[in-house]
Amino acid sequence: MEVKLTIPFNKPYLTGKETHYIYQAVQSGKISGDGMFTKKCHAFFEERFGFQKCLLTTSCTDALEMAAILLNIEPGDEVILPSYTFVSTANAFVLRGANLVFVDSEKDNPNMDVASIAALITAKTKAIVPVHYAGMACDMDAIMELANKHQIYVVEDAAQAIDAYYTGKDGIQKPLGSIGHLAAFSFHETKNIMSGEGGMLVINDPQFANRAEVIREKGTNRSAFFRGEIDKYGWVDMGSSFLPSDILAAFLFAQLESLTDIQTKRKEIWDAYYAAFAPLAASNKLTLPQMPSYASNNAHMYYVVCASLEERTALILALKEAGIMAVFHYLSLHKSPFYTNKHDGRNLPYTDSFSDCLLRLPMYYELNAADQTRIIEVILKFYMA
Ligand SMILES: *Cc1c(COP(=O)(O)O)cnc(C)c1O
Repeated sequence: MEVKLTIPFNKPYLTGKETHYIYQAVQSGKISGDGMFTKKCHAFFEERFGFQKCLLTTSCTDALEMAAILLNIEPGDEVILPSYTFVSTANAFVLRGANLVFVDSEKDNPNMDVASIAALITAKTKAIVPVHYAGMACDMDAIMELANKHQIYVVEDAAQAIDAYYTGKDGIQKPLGSIGHLAAFSFHETKNIMSGEGGMLVINDPQFANRAEVIREKGTNRSAFFRGEIDKYGWVDMGSSFLPSDILAAFLFAQLESLTDIQTKRKEIWDAYYAAFAPLAASNKLTLPQMPSYASNNAHMYYVVCASLEERTALILALKEAGIMAVFHYLSLHKSPFYTNKHDGRNLPYTDSFSDCLLRLPMYYELNAADQTRIIEVILKFYMA
């Protein structure tokens, strides 16, 4: 039977101001990178989240690649990262010749198991790359302590973590992306705030600030030249073209202006799912997201964890038959065709289990209450039957 999917998994939300700002960007006559809207976006992030220095990029993938260049990752260096993540987290370092050392997920959530990192650190370890899955903070105090002790760098993959926070042992709530030496955000259309494609590198360690500008501008000191700090610019380092057109920044700025509204709506949807499934969790039929006490919730994603792969497959089918698109997520990178022979052979059972059992439900600004109720009813019926 062919069913019409009436509730998509994701629907990019437009605030309505995007085209207005794009028009302004075009009219301004400067539509290459680092124009008026790029500056507005940088200022927004620096003011709202206290990030030291922000640089828009064309994607989070690019921001991660910049981070790998900035850290001087060389062939043979080791980088510690979760196996349950998007390929870009890994690729950025593979491109520089690094060997990946994959960490298993926590038992209760897909984030990397911080307790197992210490045993993986060697003299070759250059960086730890925590991924804040679903915008849920990794235990950054523990990660930063390890990194400082061994003098290695931390790059936060904060692709999903805009407007998400970590409360440290000192009781202070810090935005994710402000804690590691470097952090990368994504504005891909599947993220809370988006510009179709887009990303940002956050530089929290000032030693990287100048070089980050150079790497982003094809290895030239053009940024300093445009600020009038030098009278001619030239090729001073390796680099590439990582900066987005101001047209993209104009789109992004419209979204940023609506950040509070977007987040409020997404949290309502998240909370409604959580409340509706509480009885299933109470009777141990379904596992709901479990947020560590130090993590805030930015409502990037609503996921559930089924008891088995078979159960998840059946649930996806039940939803599909009701016209609802729900999707699983990452396949373990340590078992991927590209990396399985390079992986050191350790079993990562929790990663595999999230790979098999985690299911993401539709989650987008315009998901209305009637549609959400339909989704919830299908799932309740599936488990109550
Ligand atoms: C989306 C995402 C990326 C990649 O972002 P792009 O902007 O599409 O390059 C990287 N890491 C994680 C964890 C992501 O969710």
